[in-house]
Amino acid sequence: MNEPERKAAPSHDAVRTATWLVAGARPEPVPDAPFNQPVTFASTYHAGGPMAYGRYGNPTWTAFEQLLGELEGGRALAFASGLAASSAVLSVLTGDDAVVVAPDNAYLGVLDQIRELEAAGAARMIQVDVTDAEAIATAARSASVVWLESPTNPNLDVADIAAAARAARAAGAVTVVDNTFATPLRQRPLDLGADVVVHSATKLLAGHSDVVLGAVVTADDTLFQRVDGQRRLHGAVPGPMEAYLALRGVRTLGVRLDRAEANAGELVRRLRGHPAVERVRYPGFGTMVSIEVAGGAAAADRVVGAVRLWVHSTSLGGVESSLERRRHWPTESVTVAESLLRLSVGIEDVDDLWGDLVRALDAGRT
Ligand SMILES: *Cc1c(COP(=O)(O)O)cnc(C)c1O
Repeated sequence: MNEPERKAAPSHDAVRTATWLVAGARPEPVPDAPFNQPVTFASTYHAGGPMAYGRYGNPTWTAFEQLLGELEGGRALAFASGLAASSAVLSVLTGDDAVVVAPDNAYLGVLDQIRELEAAGAARMIQVDVTDAEAIATAARSASVVWLESPTNPNLDVADIAAAARAARAAGAVTVVDNTFATPLRQRPLDLGADVVVHSATKLLAGHSDVVLGAVVTADDTLFQRVDGQRRLHGAVPGPMEAYLALRGVRTLGVRLDRAEANAGELVRRLRGHPAVERVRYPGFGTMVSIEVAGGAAAADRVVGAVRLWVHSTSLGGVESSLERRRHWPTESVTVAESLLRLSVGIEDVDDLWGDLVRALDAGRT
């Protein structure tokens, strides 16, 4: 009998992104091999290999990292959460009063991490409106790090990443982009000149509200080694089950994103004509929509209390639509309106989503 033909696993260069999402980072296609990278529960390995110990590497992380790294155009490192990823990057890039340029609204935990570094004398934060390229360029002149989130959470401000990265590079600063909201299917910051991408894979990448996971991606070998070293030493490593779930989620990112984005676009069109909505914030792509409800915080809270299909919860990026009034968190940025509801649009039928939302908006007015 002839040897079965050995098939090479596809590389991302050879296929389009929709195909890479499905076909990339699979186990070698040999007879009786599983299609999916199994969950490897291991604290240690037989000596002599590059992995060596469970805090340094895991084959299930590696598959997730390969898939995501190729999507972003760099090499990825998985972390226990998005905040573990941002913390690792910040700790590598700050120290001795390093100036960090940051958005005037952004994921709260990241801003709090920078404030904690400030309190320890390791950083000084300059907050900017990320839509103001001039302000970013001016602030970047004294900076070590330009930390962008684009679109921002929750105002959905969009930064000119290429311009910011150019200004940062000219000043010798490192540009980091939290790409959680756009995902690499809508924005590839490394192609735009950024040095590092961070993700809360908890959100759209994993996509099913069942896992907490983060990642750092960079094409810079030195930065990669430093962040890897930070992960090895500080140990904010993911569990293999979490990496498996996130990898499984990313397989369907393309179809989930297309569907949820189409829903979001349609809801935005309808919301713009609704008398209970003073302002609709939507960057023109993605699955996040923020609305400012007429009647202030109380009216917005009534909307939240009246929805039935939409889930009232924090977090975002799952298949199910959810919403939250962001200023109910006492530390949310004051640049966020009291009446702002952040909507995470899922993949349900858009008419069901609209029906529930419009009923809640009408209830909020009475
Ligand atoms: C949720 C989120 C984070 C933090 O990620 P965790 O996985 O919850 O630790 C960071 N940035 C953005 C934009 C987020 O939405």
